[in-house]
Amino acid sequence: MSQHAARRDKLRRSFRKLGLDALLVTNFTNVTYLTGFTGDDSYLLVLSKGEVLVSDPRYTTQLEEECPAMEASIRPPGTGMVERIADIATRAKVGKLGIEGASMTVALRDEIAAALPKAELQSTTELVEDLRIVKDKDEVAEIRRAVWYAERAFGVLKASLREERTEKEVADELENNIRLFGGKGCSFPSIVAVGPRAALPHARPTDQLIGAAPFVLVDWGANGGLYMSDLTRVLVTGKIPPKLERIYRVVLSAQEQAIAAIRPGLTCHEVDEVARKLIAKAGFGKNFGHGLGHGIGLEIHEAPRLAAKAHRKLEPGMVVTVEPGIYLPGWGGVRIEDDVLVTKSGCEVLTTVGKQWEDAIIA
Ligand code: ZN
Ligand code: ZN
Repeated sequence: MSQHAARRDKLRRSFRKLGLDALLVTNFTNVTYLTGFTGDDSYLLVLSKGEVLVSDPRYTTQLEEECPAMEASIRPPGTGMVERIADIATRAKVGKLGIEGASMTVALRDEIAAALPKAELQSTTELVEDLRIVKDKDEVAEIRRAVWYAERAFGVLKASLREERTEKEVADELENNIRLFGGKGCSFPSIVAVGPRAALPHARPTDQLIGAAPFVLVDWGANGGLYMSDLTRVLVTGKIPPKLERIYRVVLSAQEQAIAAIRPGLTCHEVDEVARKLIAKAGFGKNFGHGLGHGIGLEIHEAPRLAAKAHRKLEPGMVVTVEPGIYLPGWGGVRIEDDVLVTKSGCEVLTTVGKQWEDAIIA
């Protein structure tokens, strides 16, 4: 059985438990996860036996290439998506149809309800997302590839970083390098933040010169084709500010200790606490204003979150970022981010770019 078929079977088991006869998957990322099809504007109707991908003629060839074994219903021009879905659901005698509440407009829900007057629609939450949390071995291999592209691109950047470049130019160069190495592009718009701009966790690259301050924070990742990677490093490009070294070492040890704690059975907030306590003890508790990390996969931010009040337990196969930070408005910030796979016995750090203080210094 293909991985995609295995995922659909798991999904079937979970919607049957809710008493549903079928689930209409309208979130395109979830459709990709369940079929391998990467186009948009296509919904997947998973029935208790079999499934149908409803698409349109623009995607005929792509469907044949990406998921040849999949039953597809190509709606001819002039036929609506809802009409086609209602047809298939009626023929399959679907009584209770699950819909994805988080990805559907109220208008679409009403349209489906009108087209299937005898069926009962039931909103579901995160049925597919729950499966996506634990990665199978193909997915882990894809994430490793996304990490590889990101790291190669950063290696070139680090070796050629010059003071007269702007934040924007450096961000563009990263994206370009990722593509040259074979990746699809960045997994999100890179953050390249010089000096005080590094205090903004989501800084946008500007025309600021790299040489305008002695350090720069780079938060970047690659889209390996389908799966994402996400890393952050701080580079010291000028005379070493003693305060930077002090803060860097606090963030690094918080990050290393949180990673060392990661193992199945630990709850997500417990991992967050390891780093948070250490940063608070160093006197920077108020300066770490975001969660410790997040899942990565088909999307750059997905479940599970490593944060206060995140009560899910870690399981083998989850892939999360670990990214503590300390931000001082007006001065700058330090964040160090790696991608970590939860294994049966603990964890494996998938990212390998050096992060010791000595690795950060390129001046
Ligand atoms: Zn990041
Ligand atoms: Zn991140």
